[in-house]
Amino acid sequence: MGATGTVGQRFIQLLQGHPQFEITALAASDRSAGKTYAEACAWKLTGSIPENVREITVTPIEPPLDCDIVFSSLPSSVARETEEAFARAGYPVISNSSSYRMDEDVPLLIPEINADHLGLIETQRQKRGFGKGFIVTNPNCAVISFAPPLAALHRKFGLESVIITTMQAISGAGYPGVSAMDIADNVLPYIAGEEPKVETEAQKILGTFANGSIEKADFTVSAQCFRVDVIDGHTASVRVNLKQTSTLEDVAETMKSFPGIGLYSSPPNFIEVTEEPSRPQPRLDRDNGKGMTITVGRIFPDNIFDYRFVALSHNTVRGAAGSAILNAELLIDKGVI
Ligand code: NAP
Repeated sequence: MGATGTVGQRFIQLLQGHPQFEITALAASDRSAGKTYAEACAWKLTGSIPENVREITVTPIEPPLDCDIVFSSLPSSVARETEEAFARAGYPVISNSSSYRMDEDVPLLIPEINADHLGLIETQRQKRGFGKGFIVTNPNCAVISFAPPLAALHRKFGLESVIITTMQAISGAGYPGVSAMDIADNVLPYIAGEEPKVETEAQKILGTFANGSIEKADFTVSAQCFRVDVIDGHTASVRVNLKQTSTLEDVAETMKSFPGIGLYSSPPNFIEVTEEPSRPQPRLDRDNGKGMTITVGRIFPDNIFDYRFVALSHNTVRGAAGSAILNAELLIDKGVI
């Protein structure tokens, strides 16, 4: 669902040749329904629209759809009602949208960090009477850039407080997104609705699952979010106070050695730490690990906080479609699907 959009196109690209999934249905708005995918979609990724989807007729976003799993990249304005309708109709719904991320009974997953939060699915089914269906979500595309290094630090030293400044790419606003007249030669200090997400999602992701619910991590986050003139790749400047003291070497090693998960879409290096003084950079580092690696650099002691660093991830791959596909792989691996 949302197959013709920025994230939908990335789903189609990443699902080419996937060993577990085959695209059988594509859904979008009434503007697209009834057209072939090739007619409906303004394709913006490198190369042509893949042959296996060109002639699929786009359908409206209503159940039933001819599929076993629904990937959703709908605007949040329509996602809430639609995703619930599909879950109620018995489909696993794997969503990119913000609509359900912070609901207490919905997993907000980064498979390498909190696969045990899948336990919420049972709570969700009982509470909402979903039967076989359910909803899982992946984080906001900026949160995914810094939540992994924070997870590494939180597990080892405990986090007390965090300051984050994001520099977010144009593709994060979808297509056509921000006007060229607004973004060229410019930095926009406002992304509607973004700062509250950046200030709250990581505490849920790093929370503890017990007795059918999540106890959120107790560190505080203060965030400012900027849109910058970059096509893909969100960068976050991060300052942290830790509960336990540590050395610079320990901080870097803790991030570097955070384990991966060994699924088809998970990268060999979940967190890559670079010592190059001028990295990470979106153009040079967003495709690390086929867009699924989080790249961290500029780790230093800070004059006011304990440490500071810069983190980068690809917003439509690790920040959206790639993470959702990894969530589906996890659900299969854990026997939920
Ligand atoms: P987008 O480029 O604007 O695409 C939106 C998609 O949703 C299109 O397929 C569109 O279909 C469909 N759609 C729009 N209004 C609809 C309606 N009323 N009913 C049914 N379908 C409708 O947006 P996007 O960037 O792909 O983002 C999609 C979602 O993913 C959003 O919730 C966004 O917050 C989230 N997300 C985006 C990113 C990112 O980096 N872009 C990252 C993480 C999460 P038509 O083509 O037919 O209009």
